[in-house]
Amino acid sequence: MRLAETVRREDLLERATLVLNRSWLPVHVTTVRRALCMAFRDTARIVCTETLATYTFGEWLALPRPEHLDTIRSPSVRIAVPEVILLQRYNRIPSHEAPFTRRNLFLRDDYTCQYCGTRCSAERLSVDHVFPRSRGGGTNWENCVLACVRCNSRKANQTPGEAGLHLLRRPARPRWTPYLNVRPHQRRDSWARFAPQKKRRQNCN
Ligand SMILES: [Zn+2]
Repeated sequence: MRLAETVRREDLLERATLVLNRSWLPVHVTTVRRALCMAFRDTARIVCTETLATYTFGEWLALPRPEHLDTIRSPSVRIAVPEVILLQRYNRIPSHEAPFTRRNLFLRDDYTCQYCGTRCSAERLSVDHVFPRSRGGGTNWENCVLACVRCNSRKANQTPGEAGLHLLRRPARPRWTPYLNVRPHQRRDSWARFAPQKKRRQNCN
């Protein structure tokens, strides 16, 4: 019982929390653990996603726990899991591009083989060079995709065309978003109201 509770607490602490800058724009996603630390150090306030009221760590702790939120329990403390926090000082919007890293590639392709569409664990996936590296293919966003063991061995040292494989979509550099480092299933429904407004497309006629 106790072990199960510890595991659950660790799970909750690793959950994703949306970070808003001082102007309430999403800039990042962090873990519940870090979000609570930031609130504790007073660099962020915890946002109630229903009322949009903001709370210091102490105030949040003292709140009657909202029923829609999970609670982290320890022998001495029970605290509702924050889903969104608001930074107290930072007011910029990061404009950097998504760096090409193995981790970001797994997130871009969402742990899915880009040839057969099978979703796998990280161990069953490898980074495939669409145009083979041995023939001069680059290691970059436009030439790398995730491939499952089966597709990867079928493709070997060939282009997709030569191996009779088709890419599900053309690989491209992902646009940086505050959600880049989170897998879709880790996102919380309550974040939707903080999503940046998409620019409307101008209509020609
Ligand atoms: Zn595959």
